[in-house]
Amino acid sequence: MTEKKHLTFGGSSAHRWLNCPGSARLCSTLPPQVENEHMAAGTRAHALLELAVREGRDSVMDFAGVALQPGWPEFGADDVEAVQIAVDYVNKLLSKYPDAVLWVERMFTLPAGASDDVGGTADVVVYAPSMNLLTVIDYKHGRGKYVNENTPQMKLYAACVMFGITEYLIERVDATIIQPRCQVGEPIRTAIYSPSDLIAFSDDVDAAVAAAKTEDPPLIPGDEQCHWCPAAHVCPALASALPATAASVAEWGGELDAGATVVSLPPPSAMRADPAKLAETLKALPVIQAWIDAVEAHAEELAMGGVLLPGFKLIPKQARRKWVDETHAFRWFLKETLLDEDEFAPRNLLSVARAEKVVKKAAGSDGVKAMAALVVKESSGLKLVPDSAKGDAINPLAVAEAGFVSAVTI
Ligand code: SF4
Repeated sequence: MTEKKHLTFGGSSAHRWLNCPGSARLCSTLPPQVENEHMAAGTRAHALLELAVREGRDSVMDFAGVALQPGWPEFGADDVEAVQIAVDYVNKLLSKYPDAVLWVERMFTLPAGASDDVGGTADVVVYAPSMNLLTVIDYKHGRGKYVNENTPQMKLYAACVMFGITEYLIERVDATIIQPRCQVGEPIRTAIYSPSDLIAFSDDVDAAVAAAKTEDPPLIPGDEQCHWCPAAHVCPALASALPATAASVAEWGGELDAGATVVSLPPPSAMRADPAKLAETLKALPVIQAWIDAVEAHAEELAMGGVLLPGFKLIPKQARRKWVDETHAFRWFLKETLLDEDEFAPRNLLSVARAEKVVKKAAGSDGVKAMAALVVKESSGLKLVPDSAKGDAINPLAVAEAGFVSAVTI
């Protein structure tokens, strides 16, 4: 498994230092992050992907129940199934472009201004000389947070690789996220960049890195950068949002004391009278939420390390029952009960996204087109987001007139 060097301006924190240049220095004052169980599972999955691509394997399915390194837990079936999707994607590219050049777990850096500390490790890179096409692939093993293909991280990787292989002619760069275990969106998604997009982006990188290297680099709070910022619990800019909250609460007729203890909070219905002020209050909430999350996470980390926090205690998370051995339980139902198989192991239809893949394999694009007649795309309702978010605005008055109830077909 390739060792990863830590870069001050790395890809995984690009969303943070690009928006808040001062975060790079503040984060560098913190102790190294302790690997949690989700990060460790990601490391193991990446190691399996690296091994498969380096060895040119078609399948990793026989790694279920296998520990890749001494001391590591065995891979579960869902781990290897997820990695297999990435292996299939890479192999498909390699067979489509037999002249392809391949890099695996390779660090690329961007010579941004005077800094050589900007870059990241790309999981897999495929360059197809016949198409002048560069594909930068990032595998995500997490099932929780949906990662957009247009993230600054992917754009940074794409730029770093493009600038790192100047000996090759590049006309298009595909930045592909493979996140098979996340139930939201397509498991494989690609953002397409032209070299000029990435050259323009590298100017933004230069500017952020230059700002970060000034004597007093700016700390700029915002939803995107502050959420999960490891320095959030010590960040003066974020803490300064609290007095603003107190002022905002007071403006609405509520009260917080100096320690941000709630004395009284204004009822949301009181905010109906001034939509502009309500919008300002809404804008402040994500930053405050980021601070709350950071303080909670930090307190939990300290408590796990044995620090006693007066008035708090650690208790086991709620225990959930599960089958000790699913195969054994299945056989027990068959032998010991009179239940039909459908009663104890009901079959469910695949999700539309997964069914599409199966049908495409079995019946090609025509099958997928025929299946589309069975599918409706339905939103479960409306949600309020900032103007800058993706999606067309819907006029609520027109919706009310049309007799909108709870679902929107799109
Ligand atoms: S918490 Fe927000 S403002 Fe503070 S360093 Fe992190 S990203 Fe910047």
